[in-house]
Amino acid sequence: MLRRTLTLEMAYRPGGVLATKIHLKHISVATTEGYASRPGGAQAELLAEVNKHESERNLQLVLEEFRNFQQGVLPAGPGARSLTDFFASIDGTPDDAPALAPKTQRGDRDILNLLTKRASTLHLGPANYCWFTDPSRALCLKLAGTPTADRPLVGMCDSARCLQATHHPRHRPVWAEHTERARIFLGELGTTRKTERARLQADHDRAARVVAEIDGASATSNEEESA
Ligand code: SF4
Repeated sequence: MLRRTLTLEMAYRPGGVLATKIHLKHISVATTEGYASRPGGAQAELLAEVNKHESERNLQLVLEEFRNFQQGVLPAGPGARSLTDFFASIDGTPDDAPALAPKTQRGDRDILNLLTKRASTLHLGPANYCWFTDPSRALCLKLAGTPTADRPLVGMCDSARCLQATHHPRHRPVWAEHTERARIFLGELGTTRKTERARLQADHDRAARVVAEIDGASATSNEEESA
């Protein structure tokens, strides 16, 4: 605390960041800036750059999913309907026929503009996409008791139950592996361990359901093509 207070006192004087860096023997000035919570320094620049790259990445992911939607590869999961409705509104296809042939006259740039707002709500989970449009609907925040937070708690994500979660073919390997692992554990569990078995069985069934939903949503286009 003393070190921190000293840093703040020194860093906010003229030339103070450099003086503090030398006095505290920091190797990098970014460390001093971090100590001093000084905005506009190297850390802020780095953060701005990271945010920019994240925004670009999110846009590409949303565009990819939009193209998938146009090809009939639909999202799965509790938030799938909301996402397909959104894509349908951009694509101009009726809600009840989202997988019909695309009617795209817009260029990539126009579509990217339309998708930008949605992309800003995207957070990446290890096994799902989180479309954080409404904190009051975020299951993780409810579980954490912080329903008004402005960011999701991805570490507490329960994407199989949250209305803002979607699952896509790229998430399938994670769920399939989880299903397989749960199946193996179940096979190794003694018959007396009923509580543990019930918990594992529920876990297995949930993961298997997610895999089936992803497969079902991806298969929609194939069925329609062959019909
Ligand atoms: S539970 Fe998961 S999908 Fe839902 S808001 Fe939290 S992080 Fe996003």
